[in-house]
Amino acid sequence: GSIRQNNIFNGHSPLKLFTHAKITITDIFKNIASYVNDSNTYLNDVIKSDRNLITNDKYKEIQQLKERVSRILSIISRDHMKVVFFGRTSNGKSTVMNAMLREKILPIGMGHTTNCFLQIEGTDKNEPSVLIPGSDELKSINNLSSIGNALSREKLDSDSLVKILWPKEKCRLIRDDVILVDSPGIDVSVNLDEWIEKYCLDADVFVLVISAEATITGAEKKFLHRVAERLSNPNIFILMNRWDATDNEPEMVELVKQQHLDRGLEFLCDELNLCQRKEAAEHRMFFISAREALLNRNVDISTLSKSGFNKAYKERLIEFNKFEHEFEKCISKTAVKTKFEQHTNRGKEILILLCETITNIINKSQTIKRESSEKLIETEDRNNFLERELILITELAKEKIRYVSEDVYQRVAQTLNDE
Ligand code: GDP
Repeated sequence: GSIRQNNIFNGHSPLKLFTHAKITITDIFKNIASYVNDSNTYLNDVIKSDRNLITNDKYKEIQQLKERVSRILSIISRDHMKVVFFGRTSNGKSTVMNAMLREKILPIGMGHTTNCFLQIEGTDKNEPSVLIPGSDELKSINNLSSIGNALSREKLDSDSLVKILWPKEKCRLIRDDVILVDSPGIDVSVNLDEWIEKYCLDADVFVLVISAEATITGAEKKFLHRVAERLSNPNIFILMNRWDATDNEPEMVELVKQQHLDRGLEFLCDELNLCQRKEAAEHRMFFISAREALLNRNVDISTLSKSGFNKAYKERLIEFNKFEHEFEKCISKTAVKTKFEQHTNRGKEILILLCETITNIINKSQTIKRESSEKLIETEDRNNFLERELILITELAKEKIRYVSEDVYQRVAQTLNDE
């Protein structure tokens, strides 16, 4: 009801789930980096005092962890959420994306002139720029229409990718690490497999934009079948766009809507077997007008009842907000799971390796101690101290990483329950 709609407008964005998780996992790996450093210092001492306490291979393996951890940290810093938009040319993909970005970033109605992939991602710089394939040079764009101009001048293959780097400070979605990819119209004959291979395998969400006057085409279905073959259980949203067209035939609206719903659900649930019909009807199909949504981005939904908009218009604006909210929930949850679960597991592996290595050394040195005389008392005292310290550190680290990985999932659950 209205509480929910207020939430959509005022509440925290579910995208924060991902951004918080990213900060948390970065902290964890910084800690792991310092445990790795401590362990290396310790092992250097161990090697100096007794070469038999650790094998050369193990020593090298631990030394290499530093490099491994810093690689993981750099991957984490580049981790993001990715959504791919597709559908026939002119169904309104660019308009939907602009509405979500809350700004007219993409050229609208350019049709075949933007017949390639367009990726919008964040930059810390203040000015937007474009990266055209085949060139390493960032071209600055002073105004939005120059994106369209820049693109229409280039001869680009349909499977090439143009990157638009948009200032993070200008747009919330981009600031929260979402990357949006616009695909060339799916009506253009192309090698779908190559598309998927190149740009879709790391996508968290797919959004199919259909025009309400049309239905899902064979090409669109084929694309999604291929996606579902490559990715297990892809997240697919269907947007029935241009729903404003039904204003001309109010008596037909419910009937037409039901027909679209039936066809969409049959495809998502029976054909692709992705989810239950009820779930798909509530969370995966939306009847919207991207054009109206783009025009009214600054209107507060909770005050709509006082505004002059007609009922159907208001419903479409609310529906667009609902879509955005479901989309944000879905993409952040999926990205946290697919991206950070892996990192968490690697972090655990590293800590277990450290822990086992050190425990091994301690056991060995204790055996030696029992067998040997007291000639090494001084070194041993020092070793004992380091051992104790390291056991403590690794135990703490293990505990912490377990706590954090649970915490990440608890936060997922909690954020989702809150809505
Ligand atoms: P794309 O080729 O799929 O990216 O489609 P565009 O976003 O460029 O839209 C094509 C044309 O349809 C433009 O003239 C848009 O203004 C128009 N359009 C997009 N969404 C809507 C909508 O919801 N309602 C109406 N009436 N027109 C729309």
